[in-house]
Amino acid sequence: MASERDYYDVLGVSRTAEQSEIKKAYRKLALKYHPDRNPGDEDAITRFKEASEAFEILSDAEKRARYDRFGREGVRGAGSGGGFNDVNDIFSAFGDLFEGFGFQFGGGGGSRRSRGASRGESLQQVVTIDLPEAYSGCSRELRISRREPCSTCSGSGSAPGSEPVTCTTCKGRGQVVQSQGFFQVQRTCPYCRGEGRVVSNPCMDCEGAGRTMQEVVREVSIPAGIDSGMQLCLRGEGEAGRNGGGRGDLYLEIEVRKHSLFQRDGHNLMYRLPLTYAQAALGTEIEIPTLRGRETLRVKPGTQPGEVSRLRGMGMPPLQGERAGPGDLLVEMQVEVPKKLSEQQEDLLRQLAELDHSSVLPHQKSFFEQVREFFSGHDSEKESE
Ligand SMILES: [Zn+2]
Ligand SMILES: [Zn+2]
Repeated sequence: MASERDYYDVLGVSRTAEQSEIKKAYRKLALKYHPDRNPGDEDAITRFKEASEAFEILSDAEKRARYDRFGREGVRGAGSGGGFNDVNDIFSAFGDLFEGFGFQFGGGGGSRRSRGASRGESLQQVVTIDLPEAYSGCSRELRISRREPCSTCSGSGSAPGSEPVTCTTCKGRGQVVQSQGFFQVQRTCPYCRGEGRVVSNPCMDCEGAGRTMQEVVREVSIPAGIDSGMQLCLRGEGEAGRNGGGRGDLYLEIEVRKHSLFQRDGHNLMYRLPLTYAQAALGTEIEIPTLRGRETLRVKPGTQPGEVSRLRGMGMPPLQGERAGPGDLLVEMQVEVPKKLSEQQEDLLRQLAELDHSSVLPHQKSFFEQVREFFSGHDSEKESE
């Protein structure tokens, strides 16, 4: 179902559209293609999902920036992945946007979930890696504290042998109708929180919640080419749902540590290479570090300070599925002037200066030599008076 239309085209907004415009455009499309208004119309459902996917990316400043720069590949796995699994996911993600529209957002066309089921919360965790790990890809063992179904009551929340009873506030419907100005608005029942039933004899282990905190360990692989600010989504690794609702997701926020040598700019890497005047003037072959090992760089004769040597393909690799190739390694030549010279070096440089007809400072006289000159000059002036 993964359509590859441009997200801005899907919503019919310009690339510079403001958030309010994007929200408005999405709401219009979502209401038009809402499954309850188009029963059995698969095309409407596809369009509804497509619009929701576009909205999910463009309504988030960070995802939108990544999409602008890298296209769909930049946001793959960052929430939308291959699209929403089903229409209910969309309602649970964006349901708030539609409150007050007079009809209930609760899964019309697709699979109606069982009454009172609610999806588990999604979790977020920061993972910090080093630049070489981002270069080659790596794996990490994660400890995740999350709510899992209570084993004593199998997630029902009721003490073994007892059953939840029908909620009296909503008479089991899970929804209550409230008046808001001229509108009748249907809301989730505040007493049973939409479940339609309440636990009358709670399980002692989870205090009726049906879930308990547990720690699980997961091995995740982090793809090569990842950059700070990107997010990985592990579907179904969030908290357990309630009453048969699906699990939430786990979002991994990636942070790549700064490297002491290489600076990263998107896919490119760069650093400054110190050269002596002689190396720059005469040219040389020099061994340089790259993230895939040592390489030999030819510095051509007459290299100027600030000149950049571009080593194609030796930057960061593209993310899997990204259309771009690998980045480049940019080596900036830095010609260093020595602060101290040996006697021989100084002599040679003076000869060079004479050849160049350039004026240089004279040999430095010793302090005492200068003092003697000062007094003798002084005395001779006096004598000549
Ligand atoms: Zn329990
Ligand atoms: Zn209720």
